Amino acid sequence: MKQHFMPIISNQQVSSRYWHMVVDSSRLTSPIEPGQFFHIRCSQGSFPFLRRPFSIYRINESTIEFLYLVKGEGTQEMTHLQAGEMLDVVGPLGVGFSLDKSADTILLVARGVGIATLAALAQEAVEKNVKCAAILSARSKDDLLAADLLQGFGAEVYKVTEEDGTSDVANVEEIIRGILKRNKIDGIYTCGSRRLSRLSQNIANEYHIPGEIALEEHMGCAMGACFACVCDVKEDTGVKSVRVCLEGPVFSLEKVVLG
Ligand SMILES: Cc1cc2nc3c(=O)[nH]c(=O)nc-3n(C[C@H](O)[C@H](O)[C@H](O)COP(=O)(O)OP(=O)(O)OC[C@H]3O[C@@H](n4cnc5c(N)ncnc54)[C@H](O)[C@@H]3O)c2cc1C
Repeated sequence: MKQHFMPIISNQQVSSRYWHMVVDSSRLTSPIEPGQFFHIRCSQGSFPFLRRPFSIYRINESTIEFLYLVKGEGTQEMTHLQAGEMLDVVGPLGVGFSLDKSADTILLVARGVGIATLAALAQEAVEKNVKCAAILSARSKDDLLAADLLQGFGAEVYKVTEEDGTSDVANVEEIIRGILKRNKIDGIYTCGSRRLSRLSQNIANEYHIPGEIALEEHMGCAMGACFACVCDVKEDTGVKSVRVCLEGPVFSLEKVVLG
């Protein structure tokens, strides 16, 4: 088990629903890839018993960052963690995104906490000189936290929200088709919404663009033992059930079965 105790550098509320945590990862020896995740103990005590999975939001030289939405008991407990305390994590876990460095431009389609997951990929893209267009969808403008970060990476960012009445699938489809008219897109990456993932899958199929999806299923052990996070993927031999924690969380967009 890849368990580590990483010193917390900061843990701050950044909007009404989101928190941002920075930890010292200098003692981590394994490389970290965008799309991978850590299974985090949410409190210094034993409650809640099960760890919770979080993607890596930013990967720096000696720190990593998480962006998390306060949803239930675990994430509520996480907000009490203080700078100077140790964060008990297992990871990095799972299979990350693959990004071809010869790609010209990639398209990111993210919703809600999925934006945190795709931000690390945008960071890798800029490091590899791959251009990025990103559609970020959220309930409100307040929740579009990574928009500035992505714009700072040079990404062409399109923001859609319920608040503005712009987040419906038809509007997102129009934006995507416009991007595809103006750019040669070499990969579509999506996370955070079934509706937008289905749209991304249909468009990727129509334009024959390879794509990947990061799934955020409920997880138990995150070690492949409990089968709590199973999803279906299409193989040559038929549909196969796979574990998101072990075989994912990143899967081929073409192959994943989106219910
Ligand atoms: C690989 C992976 C990466 C993730 N990365 C991030 C991230 O970067 N930032 C972030 O904020 N969140 C992320 N999540 C989601 C995060 O793990 C859950 O929001 C968290 O576990 C909720 O814990 P909780 O104790 O606060 O809520 P709980 O009390 O466990 O649940 C509260 C409510 O949320 C629902 N819920 C819990 N987990 C999930 C889930 N995985 N999908 C859908 N609904 C859920 C429950 O059914 C319940 O209704 C990720 C999940 C996965 C699997």
